[in-house]
Amino acid sequence: MSQAALKRTPEAPEASESPAVRLRNVTVRFTTERGAVTALDRVSMTVARGGFLTLLGPSGCGKSTLLRVVSDLIPATSGEVEVMGASAAAAREARNIGFVFQDASLLAWRTALENVELPLEVGGGAEHRGARSPRELLALVGLSGREKAYPHELSGGMRQRVAIARALVNDPKLLLMDEPFGALDEITRDRLNVELLRVWENTGATILFVTHSIYEAAFLGQQVLLMAARPGRVREVVDVPLPTPRGVEQRETPQFVELTAHLRRVLETC
Ligand code: ADP
Ligand code: MG
Repeated sequence: MSQAALKRTPEAPEASESPAVRLRNVTVRFTTERGAVTALDRVSMTVARGGFLTLLGPSGCGKSTLLRVVSDLIPATSGEVEVMGASAAAAREARNIGFVFQDASLLAWRTALENVELPLEVGGGAEHRGARSPRELLALVGLSGREKAYPHELSGGMRQRVAIARALVNDPKLLLMDEPFGALDEITRDRLNVELLRVWENTGATILFVTHSIYEAAFLGQQVLLMAARPGRVREVVDVPLPTPRGVEQRETPQFVELTAHLRRVLETC
């Protein structure tokens, strides 16, 4: 990752501009053999353009379902979903959404660079449309010099970096991340947290990040949205009082300790 001083370059603010994501009373129900499951129950939330919102909650509270609705992978049973002022389907078709999962899901027979290039090929033309080339994106995530490495030659953390670079290749305005660092060791996770914040500052993208780690949620987010399970719903939205850019030393500040204690207390009653 480049150590150069990176300035955040948000989009020009317009008074009438819609938020990056807006959900109004979104309910998602699944029908299973054992009856209906309400994965999300009248969830309303907004994420400002250029914001970083972390979704925190126990397993089964609907975090992944929420990301799937926002990215138009599944429909809402009722309620409204708006992405960049239009429908989730329109945002997906305009390739305004990038997705990173817990498993990097790289193609084993393609190099790091070829994996990052993949979404460009899937889109039809091989010409590059984003502001940064696949090679520049690999540099942005700290993988300069590893372009030709195959996934099995990379560590788990490096594979996730490739997945992040791949998600950024179409210059998405919105990056959805579903527990992307959940399978990594703590030291690697800490490092990638810091680097993800730098990517966020550098790209100006809006990030919606799912985790069940209290520390990760508090460290990354400008806001933390706490969810409760059965049925999945919003408990509380907490503003994170830490300044940006952030470094791991901020985790020792009284504000951070107080914030994580609060998040823990709320989670215990979810
Ligand atoms: P989380 O990501 O917070 O762990 P999920 O969004 O995966 O939670 O799931 C929320 C609830 O919806 C869970 O009870 C889960 O079993 C259920 N669920 C999720 N996807 C499906 C599906 N495709 N069919 C049936 N039930 C589902
Ligand atoms: Mg999940």
